[in-house]
Amino acid sequence: MKLAFEWCLKSLVLSGILLSMPVRPVAHFPTHRSTGLAQLPTNTQVRCALDWFAEHRAWIDDEQARLTEIPAPTFQEADRAAAVKVLLSAVGLEVSTDKTGNVIGLLRGASDKELVVLSAHLDTVFPAGTDVTVRREKSRMTAPGISDNGAGLAALVAIARAIHEARIQPQRSILFVANVGEEGEGNLRGMRALVEAYRDRLKAVIVLDGSSVDHVTTKALASRRVEVVIAGPGGHSWSDFGIPNPINALVRGSVRFISTRVPSAPRTTFNLGQIEGGTSVNSVPHDARLKVDMRSENEDELTRLETALRECVTAGVRDEMEASRDRSKGKLEWKLETLGNRPGGELAPNSPLLAALRAADEFIGNQSRVERASTDANIPLSLGIEAVAIGAGGNGGGAHSLQEWYEPDGREKGLQRVLLTLLGSSGVSAEKTR
Ligand SMILES: [Zn+2]
Repeated sequence: MKLAFEWCLKSLVLSGILLSMPVRPVAHFPTHRSTGLAQLPTNTQVRCALDWFAEHRAWIDDEQARLTEIPAPTFQEADRAAAVKVLLSAVGLEVSTDKTGNVIGLLRGASDKELVVLSAHLDTVFPAGTDVTVRREKSRMTAPGISDNGAGLAALVAIARAIHEARIQPQRSILFVANVGEEGEGNLRGMRALVEAYRDRLKAVIVLDGSSVDHVTTKALASRRVEVVIAGPGGHSWSDFGIPNPINALVRGSVRFISTRVPSAPRTTFNLGQIEGGTSVNSVPHDARLKVDMRSENEDELTRLETALRECVTAGVRDEMEASRDRSKGKLEWKLETLGNRPGGELAPNSPLLAALRAADEFIGNQSRVERASTDANIPLSLGIEAVAIGAGGNGGGAHSLQEWYEPDGREKGLQRVLLTLLGSSGVSAEKTR
């Protein structure tokens, strides 16, 4: 298989034979002269990069497994980040790590004034100590995080390497980013720091998350995550019976809140996801905590929901205080803390980035549906910077479960789709023969 790629490289030098080379069928590739989308797949170097993926399947699979086996819970991504840094450095990028822990590999374009980002998050939802050994059966790989985001990280390094080996120089510079803090309470902190640092020059962000080619996320689902904390005097279950009980208050408030009506359009949801408190069955607890996740297609609905939650907790605490027959030891205090706040936003339907993605879809014979989701793309989209989140190809399932799996069959198409979207967005400078 190596031979084919060597031949491909040789053809870069022997530009004289380019004209007689069979051209990939691109009849339906739309014309988009400003970004050169129509010409992209016929560019010899781009063709080499497109072919690179099929010829290096085993390498891509192995790197995916290797990276997946380096534990990377949110806030503990450093080891996996270091491994990605080695891979990006090996393909000639100028690689640095920022203060939040993002690994950033720069590929200089003909013009350094504008940047396009290709990113994949490093972190997983699995706590330290989770067995992340990858089991391989035929082509299927099974392990926590193998798809989300082992597939995205493998694609990131594969695309960087394909571009390097095919000697492509982009017009705009490309940042290859393995970022921290996408999952849960990471609250998109890696992407926030990245966009903050490069905001002025940032033209487009392509986020790789999970497997498949079936969707393109162009709409950012707004979400808010809060924690309610109620504290009280605490005491003995028998001798202090009748003092206000934080768990009782939390339950009273929660029962009120779960009856809150939410619209189906704009779709709005809430989830009481974690509840805890107390120290033993025979103690009146000192505290009670509740974590709530709220999501909506419209950010105003989130504000409305948070207000409802505050009112319900206020009422729950008041009810519990009124019901308590011994207030001599103290009263209940409560607060609401924001754990995360993901802003909403949407990509304009006529955006050049979406045109590049659609052209890439046509090239691989794919039709993808537009989706709304909560991803790293929320941050650039909320600031009016073009962004999409897409899968890295292949198939996967069981995300966020211990049975998570990934099958790389056909992943080349997904990688080609990402490559063409990226290069369609960065532009490619004129072919060089070295
Ligand atoms: Zn993910």
